[in-house]
Amino acid sequence: MIAEIFQRERFDDPATARAFRVDSNERKFATRRFFLIAGIMLYASYAWLDHLIGGPFGPKFVAVRLLVAVPLMMGITACFCMGLCKGRETLTFLSYMMVMLLSVLYMCLVGQPVADYYPFGMVVIVFSMSMLLLPSMRLTVGMSLIVLAMLSIMLTYSQIGREAAYASLYFVSMCCLVLVVGMYFLENTERKQYVYKRDLEKMVSTLRESEQRAMDLYHEAKQAEVAKSEFLAVVSHELRTPMNAIIGFSDIIQTEMMGPVQPVQYKEYATHINKSGVQLLGIINDILDISRADMDKITFESTEFDIFETLGNAIVSCSANAEDAGIAIMRTGLKSGSLAVLGDEARILQALINIIGNAIKFSGEAGVVTVDTAFTAQGAVTLAVTDTGIGISPEDIEQIKQPFQQAEGAFARNNGGLGLGLAICGIVADAHEGELRIESELGVGTTVSLILPPECIANQGQAA
Ligand code: ADP
Repeated sequence: MIAEIFQRERFDDPATARAFRVDSNERKFATRRFFLIAGIMLYASYAWLDHLIGGPFGPKFVAVRLLVAVPLMMGITACFCMGLCKGRETLTFLSYMMVMLLSVLYMCLVGQPVADYYPFGMVVIVFSMSMLLLPSMRLTVGMSLIVLAMLSIMLTYSQIGREAAYASLYFVSMCCLVLVVGMYFLENTERKQYVYKRDLEKMVSTLRESEQRAMDLYHEAKQAEVAKSEFLAVVSHELRTPMNAIIGFSDIIQTEMMGPVQPVQYKEYATHINKSGVQLLGIINDILDISRADMDKITFESTEFDIFETLGNAIVSCSANAEDAGIAIMRTGLKSGSLAVLGDEARILQALINIIGNAIKFSGEAGVVTVDTAFTAQGAVTLAVTDTGIGISPEDIEQIKQPFQQAEGAFARNNGGLGLGLAICGIVADAHEGELRIESELGVGTTVSLILPPECIANQGQAA
């Protein structure tokens, strides 16, 4: 504990020690200047005491004080204030104090017995000055030793009694000790503060550099993302034209528009080509939409349409797949009458097909998909699709709303798809200021809801 208290804060290298000294000198400059000037005024004011008790030596004392010591001290102070003593602060303060001490020593030795009591008053001044001015503990030790040596010389040559001399020497020695210990702690604290401040500055600059680096990387990543989106948009656009030709011509062949196709297998092949083409075009369109959304170039129209009809169309589009998989689609909640909605009908239809398509895709055998329509308490309309499929783990729910993300699990992977459907649904919901909500439990089922806010509802009609 004691060792801890007295442990000195050491600088690891001379450069830091030098930097600390420069920093400390700069910080103390104004205070030191003030005390140097105050010291001269205090020292000069003692001329009045010289005049009162100096007797025959009075004029001599006043002359030494005001004509020799004070001008010298003023010269030193002026040099210090003008910054001429930079780097030589220690020498400056020692010279200043030596002028004071030597003048007092001279008066004591010359003016006996009149000046017997001078040493004590002057010691206090020199003492307090040294405490305020000395830059380090080592110098305080040196200064204390000088003060004690001078006091001893004064007491030896003065007429003062032995007891009084010992008492004064003891008193001043104790003061010196207190001063040295105080200086030790003061300097130690200053050193610690300096090291702390330096480390803090280093840390701040490292953090700034890291922040700058992170910003640069972010901008690079952003640029790369824009380049990727642009590339995807161009490729998808270029693929769409030949894809439309493939779909169109295969359709002509499969429907035998220009006469029967021989042999019959060719017609079957054309049907496969057409189906695959339509599937591929859907993927290309999804990629195009996502890249447009990334570049903020996706556009939405706003027209009034009946959401019940759109929902019915989405179910019809998916019913062939549902039938193939042996899955029943049920409608619950509001389903009769009409509900006029303001928004982009094609995009909402696309989102509903994606959601119902997923429910069918991820349902187990003989599963049931329920499509529910309801109003919330706030007046929003919720189109919720619930399945009895594999479900999604809670940690995957937020992730799968991002493009190209699929929930882990072999079943999900086995079902194909690029992981774009829900991302597009999210974009559609955002564009209508609505919400895409996913609730799920692994092995139990999933409910994906597209919520359109009350602002999207143009007319509730006779929805029931
Ligand atoms: P994908 O084309 O891969 O289906 P989506 O964005 O539509 O892309 O879906 C992303 C992933 O979310 C799917 O691959 C699947 O893992 C999971 N998912 C979506 N809907 C369901 C659902 N109803 N049940 C279980 N998992 C689902």
